[in-house]
Amino acid sequence: MYRTHTCGELRMQHVGNTVVLSGWVQSRRDFGGMTFIDLRDRYGITQLFFDESTDAELCALARKLGREYVVRVEGKVRERSNKNPDRPTGDIEIEVQKLDILNESKVPPFTIEEETDGGDELRMTYRYLDIRREPVKEKLIFRSKLAIETRKYLSEHGFIEVETPFLIKSTPEGARDFVVPSRLHAGQFYALPQSPQTFKQLLMVAGMDKYFQIVKCFRDEDLRADRQPEFTQIDCEMSFVSREDILNTFEGLTKHLFKEVLGVALPDFPRMSYDEALRRFGSDKPDLRFGMEFVELNEQVKGKGFSVFDSAELVVGICAEGQAAAYSNKDIKKLTEWLQRPQIGAKGLVYVKFNEDGSIKSSVGKFFEEEALRSWAEHAGAKPGDMLLILAGEAEKTRKQLSELRLEMGRRMGLMKPGVFKPLWVVDFPLLEWDEETQRFHAMHHPFTAPKREDVERMLSGDRETMKQLRADAYDLVINGAEIGGGSIRIHDRALQEKNFKLLGFTREEAEAQFGFLMGAFEYGAPPHGGIAFGFDRLCAVMQGQQSIRDFIAFPKNNQGRDLMIDAPSPIAEEQWEELHLCLRQSEDS
Ligand code: ASP
Repeated sequence: MYRTHTCGELRMQHVGNTVVLSGWVQSRRDFGGMTFIDLRDRYGITQLFFDESTDAELCALARKLGREYVVRVEGKVRERSNKNPDRPTGDIEIEVQKLDILNESKVPPFTIEEETDGGDELRMTYRYLDIRREPVKEKLIFRSKLAIETRKYLSEHGFIEVETPFLIKSTPEGARDFVVPSRLHAGQFYALPQSPQTFKQLLMVAGMDKYFQIVKCFRDEDLRADRQPEFTQIDCEMSFVSREDILNTFEGLTKHLFKEVLGVALPDFPRMSYDEALRRFGSDKPDLRFGMEFVELNEQVKGKGFSVFDSAELVVGICAEGQAAAYSNKDIKKLTEWLQRPQIGAKGLVYVKFNEDGSIKSSVGKFFEEEALRSWAEHAGAKPGDMLLILAGEAEKTRKQLSELRLEMGRRMGLMKPGVFKPLWVVDFPLLEWDEETQRFHAMHHPFTAPKREDVERMLSGDRETMKQLRADAYDLVINGAEIGGGSIRIHDRALQEKNFKLLGFTREEAEAQFGFLMGAFEYGAPPHGGIAFGFDRLCAVMQGQQSIRDFIAFPKNNQGRDLMIDAPSPIAEEQWEELHLCLRQSEDS
């Protein structure tokens, strides 16, 4: 028998019992005639005790144990004289009577404890060692609980889990596809799904009514910090539903998960239109843990002879409470430089400090009377001690820049409190997005999203400006400034779907070649339907107050999209090139 108990289980009530434990040697401490070992498994750490005067041979064997040796011990539970209140098993230790070495270990390349000395790359190369560490292991356990609770809730609400294929057809919309060459069909390729979108819609046509799947998705996007080429979604679709039915169901799921896994009761989620979110926060995923809402100042500041403001489409600011005294000229300069970095691209920053003593200091003090500045304060609700930060320029860009500044100020002012969760639904997204570069429209969500019913008429009749105004029955769930999920009511009618593809610049032939299977299915009694997908990795990270999704993935890729542990991607053998007909093109050309 390898064990009677786990390393996280024994307490005072077990004192006197003879037990068997198995696990890894985390650390060994030798003092005079005594040796202490911390033995670890998934469940915790238990202290082992060896005494030279009781059994010299056993103690000598214990002193041979290196870090991460795998051992089995038999012994008696006894009360510790020197208790460790930080450990659930800290009141007891095992007086070892028998020790078996089950396996040896090389010296690990980094310390396997809460805090480690290993850098990112090294830990990813030895991910199986990193997972032995408490914080990494706990995140995977958390993820597992979340997945189980998701399945519980959805199956209790009538959803069935259906697996959809991973080898599908490449469709050049959204992100880039990962492709898989076919051996049996020379020159042809499968693609890995960016999401099961078309399949879940076909399941609705098939009458499955409520579908879900916790599913891997693959997107070959450009590298960015914290982006994983494969990630997991809680993917869902429902028939005969309105937007409200979907929002309520998935608000219910979210509340259930927070309650069951975190013990947090979330209040009802507010709804905010896309336009309102942009106006008030400059972002379609506002962090509502703090206010600092946008204050539009066009009326207050224009026509007073300050050309930067006069020529701007929008002058807009935020009021940073109590920050007037905290920012020296040098700090303001640094903040301005931060805003001027290419990632943000603001031209400049105007500040107005409303000092505690009633005086006012501003970078535009030369251009505006004190009375004018006071009227801004009133408009912005600024009190003595507060500081107004103002940006000006083209509306859309300026809002984006100010949104970055708002988040940065929120961070600096400690307003993004851990353990506080502020969910909201952002609704009524634009249907289409104009892309200057390619001079065509893209679907803001995806091409299967339905316009709002009242906009269907305008859909084909209008010009470019009308097209930009079309609204979709699309929605996002946002928590603490992170997009957790998004979905929409879908088009379920062939004619409307064809229209939409046309708007998006597809020729009839292209639409037919790529999505004919879906439009064909719509001709056989497609029910009205809609759905949503949550980013599962992101949900885990946000619930745990973490920035990065990487640690919630057992075997993640690094920022270059590489798996350092198995060393992928990697070259393939010459025979494979041939078998997969990958030399075909070249030889045909030559
Ligand atoms: N398939 C969509 C996505 O991956 C989600 C949805 O519309 O249900 O974003």
